[in-house]
Amino acid sequence: MSNIEQLKEFHWMMDMLQNIDVGLVVLNKNYEVQLWNSFMENHSGMIATETRNRNLFELFTEIERDWFEHKVESVFQLKTRAFSIWEQRPYIFKFRNYRPITGTAKFMYQNISIFPIVSTTGQVDNICIIVYDVTDVATNRDALEDANSQLEKLSRTDKLTNINNRGYWQECQEREFSHHSRYKNDISLVIFDIDHFKNVNDTYGHQAGDEVIRQCSAALQACARDVDICGRYGGEEFVVLLTETKADGAMIFAERLRKKIESLLVEYEDFKIKFTISLGICQLNENVKSPGQWLENADQALYKSKESGRNQTNISS
Ligand code: GH3
Ligand code: MG
Ligand code: MG
Repeated sequence: MSNIEQLKEFHWMMDMLQNIDVGLVVLNKNYEVQLWNSFMENHSGMIATETRNRNLFELFTEIERDWFEHKVESVFQLKTRAFSIWEQRPYIFKFRNYRPITGTAKFMYQNISIFPIVSTTGQVDNICIIVYDVTDVATNRDALEDANSQLEKLSRTDKLTNINNRGYWQECQEREFSHHSRYKNDISLVIFDIDHFKNVNDTYGHQAGDEVIRQCSAALQACARDVDICGRYGGEEFVVLLTETKADGAMIFAERLRKKIESLLVEYEDFKIKFTISLGICQLNENVKSPGQWLENADQALYKSKESGRNQTNISS
């Protein structure tokens, strides 16, 4: 190849490096900038001549010096590549994100690769940093994680009342049952059912019935503590796990809820609806062999409340 051709090729190479859509920075051993391509110019707002021979840490005070020096030293000494990925460190150079599609990210997420520039004599006096803009990947991942956690919440929630649905509540109950097997902590289960609910539906309509269920659930949530685990078990049947609570404490909770609901007036269209609930309690103990039996015992106490005239609470014997 003639000298002219070689020079032409060299110019092409330089032109391509300038215009490539990644950041290129060459640093010497004193961390002084030797090369700064147009990607870096565009995103930093500093042109190459401004950065030439300037110390990188003075130009970018946000770079964590100890961490970065440690990485670069290994490149100089071992003559091997080093990397930094956005999952561990979102960026090295704090560039604003101007991409229209991924406008939600404030700063450009970056992957960084650092490699040694080996001279013809085998020496490494300079290193090159390649900066990849991975904002699209990062924001897509974040959006996917958000969507997944929203979906997960939806799959655990009852649509009508917004409290835990049966499936998720049962998962929690199983978890609490196992926890009790190991730690013997106090925990009680309360189940309750709206009295003569069929009458509500028949008299005021299904929509009014739905409103009664919603307000019943709201009353439950108002009575429960944050640590209690409430759920809608079925149509007009609710369940609560009262943590660190013996049967007598559960009785106080149940009676407070029963009285609150007894005094509630549900207004729906022109109707004013009053209703009551019946409740059953079972404190977990060594005679209860499974989560199913625990619920069954509470349900039997609820049945006793129904049989004895409704609007009352009974404890499993
Ligand atoms: P009891 O005092 O013995 O509990 O009498 P009850 O009338 O409440 O008896 P039951 O539990 O058999 O009736 C429940 C009714 O609740 C039957 C069903 O049509 C109705 N239901 C179930 N789910 C819903 C719902 O989501 N919305 C409405 N409006 N009604 C529901
Ligand atoms: Mg009922
Ligand atoms: Mg029922």
